[in-house]
Amino acid sequence: NQQILLVKRPKGMPKEEHFQLVEGPIPQPGEGEVLVRTLYLSVDPYMRGRMSDRKSYVPPYPLNEVVTGGVVGEVVQSRAADLKEGDIVLAHYGWQKYAAVKSNQVRKLNPELAPITTALGVLGMPGLTAYFGMLEIGRPKPGETVVVSGAAGAVGTVAAQIAKIKGCRVVGIAGSEVKIQYLLDELGLDAAINYQTTPNLKKALAEACPNGVDIYFDNVGGEISDAVISLLNHGARIPLCGQISLYNLEKPDIGPRIQPQLLITSALMKGFIVTDYVDRFEEGTRQLAQWLKTGQLKYTEHIVEGFENTVKAFLGLFTGENLGKQLVKVAER
Ligand code: NDP
Repeated sequence: NQQILLVKRPKGMPKEEHFQLVEGPIPQPGEGEVLVRTLYLSVDPYMRGRMSDRKSYVPPYPLNEVVTGGVVGEVVQSRAADLKEGDIVLAHYGWQKYAAVKSNQVRKLNPELAPITTALGVLGMPGLTAYFGMLEIGRPKPGETVVVSGAAGAVGTVAAQIAKIKGCRVVGIAGSEVKIQYLLDELGLDAAINYQTTPNLKKALAEACPNGVDIYFDNVGGEISDAVISLLNHGARIPLCGQISLYNLEKPDIGPRIQPQLLITSALMKGFIVTDYVDRFEEGTRQLAQWLKTGQLKYTEHIVEGFENTVKAFLGLFTGENLGKQLVKVAER
């Protein structure tokens, strides 16, 4: 077996040296367990938070243990009545090639319904995050203007398209020309702004949002959010989904104080964690799958090949390497 352990807590941007690839025997499944062979594994921005020992909504990763997270794999040995060899499952054992897990800790996937990788992206945690954040906190109404930051990522692409489905004018912010073209040409957004090359983001946003901003779906925080928040309309809503621009900072980043802006616009800013909606995951997945089927929802995946490239793929999230959901392909089905 091969596993990737967190061996040092990163300060600032993580590096290869904070991780270690180790080899060991393939585990034996116990009674009620299955042995799963990893096909695809997920790297996600939230994992950065767990690498620090700061208090958060999930406990820090213990040092010298496997980095856990979402995985899609194949059951290669079963000692559980409800799963058999060849079944494809979603599991959470993280960055390792094989794991023995209790059968009630995995979810069986139906490969006929959708490509198996979608369980880690558009039909999985990121898709559900966009769904509940946009619909429950954003509450989009036809004709409203919606801005999505991190728009070309796993969550952002779905959030932006849901707002389009609901009849909004949607403006995306992302960090490369390829991403901007994708947002405009493939996803049909009304405008898209490259924050890396736009000298005056606030001005560009004001031009792209002539009627102001009703919903700001925030994936990134920092100066990008400062610019968007300065354009809020009365009664605006801000689903506070992520703050990736701050995850590698060692010192707090104090920007303009936004409270007066929220006050004078009667705006609502609400943080949320996707698991707040765990009771409704089935509903969300069903609706997302339906939109996929009708072609109203599109998705793309950025797949890095090879287990040994997992750390590189993870680090790429912070330099914007990925268009759509970042995955690592570990083995052929
Ligand atoms: P993405 O697929 O969006 O990948 C991360 C992207 O963030 C990169 O591609 C990059 O795109 C952008 N980015 C990286 N650094 C910066 C920066 N300094 N400033 C601006 N943009 C940056 O990841 P996810 O879709 O998985 O996650 C998106 C956000 O949602 C994250 O903040 C994550 O923590 C959050 N999240 C929250 C959840 C919740 O329950 N609340 C659940 C899941 C995710 P670019 O080229 O455009 O810079």
